[in-house]
Amino acid sequence: MKKIDIKSFTLPELKAFLKERGEPAFRAGQVFDWIHVKKARGFEEMSNLPKALREKLADECRLPGAEIRRRLVSRLDGTVKYLYGLEDGESVETVLMKYEHGYSVCVSSQVGCKMGCEFCASTKAGFVRNLLPSEILDQIYQTEQDQNLRISHIVMMGIGEPLDNFENTTRFLELINSPYGANISMRNISLSTCGLAEKIDELAAFDLGLTLSISLHACTDEKRNEIMPVNRRYPIGRLLQSCKNYSKITRRRISFEYALMKGKNDSVKDAEQLACLLKGQLCHVNLIPVNEVQETSFEKTERQNIYRFQKELMKRGINATVRRTLGSDINAACGQLRRENLSEVR
Ligand code: SAH
Repeated sequence: MKKIDIKSFTLPELKAFLKERGEPAFRAGQVFDWIHVKKARGFEEMSNLPKALREKLADECRLPGAEIRRRLVSRLDGTVKYLYGLEDGESVETVLMKYEHGYSVCVSSQVGCKMGCEFCASTKAGFVRNLLPSEILDQIYQTEQDQNLRISHIVMMGIGEPLDNFENTTRFLELINSPYGANISMRNISLSTCGLAEKIDELAAFDLGLTLSISLHACTDEKRNEIMPVNRRYPIGRLLQSCKNYSKITRRRISFEYALMKGKNDSVKDAEQLACLLKGQLCHVNLIPVNEVQETSFEKTERQNIYRFQKELMKRGINATVRRTLGSDINAACGQLRRENLSEVR
């Protein structure tokens, strides 16, 4: 039988687990601290626990983690991209970025992705499995240890669709936010989704205070259907209904991601339509020059047309910024390193 993943246990769960095994209540705090603060990789490290307990834990439990398989450092801006190996040999990508406000890490939520967005490298080889909460956490813990720094901000924008791994994602959020663990504030966490409307409604009900990003990328159903299959299940109108609901419950501004693709979605008319769509929605638009990924035919919009698009939105009262590109020399955008490695292996 597979050992229990206690790294994914919340503190109350850990308390109950140890209580069942006859341990005093304070042990749970010690174990939680070893896992989430001291970032222990094995039970033998937990030196303030009795040896018998360490052995019992090692017998029954495991601490799933992420091992560095590759590390690429950008010469342009110091962005670091990791390929992390998991206990079953699968791998995911994580990116560390330095901003004025601190260090931010972009984590993956699944091995591969089912969503099938045409422009995205993460989905090309299909879906393998969900990440465990512990495996999402460990991308952060290992990155901190490797670089000897504290991460203050998290974006769930790596490989996978976090809301398609809803339970593990929300559990990860609870753990990373724990005052007894890494204690990263929800205000410093963003979660990006391609638009699973029903899950957005579920997330809204939790009222966590994190920033929700919606990968919109097109402003008519006709265009969005072409590049994002999820739109056939949740068309734009349905998605925006969930966004309105999310803002209403959480009073948080929603961030809309819009990757500009030459000749596809970057005209003045597209900007007008987008402004019209988002009218009255508490929001911010992030304009991203599309990353040109092998196996796709999308090209980047020219710089001046990106600014033209931004101006058209601003003119209509929609707050929009152009996303800075970090780590462009190491293909820091998600999915590309794992893909590359897959083709090396095969
Ligand atoms: N599944 C989630 C999170 C992962 S993708 C989502 O869809 O939001 C993170 C972001 O990168 C999304 O906004 C996604 O649409 C975008 N993205 C994917 N491929 C891209 C590319 N080639 N160029 C620019 N952005 C891309």
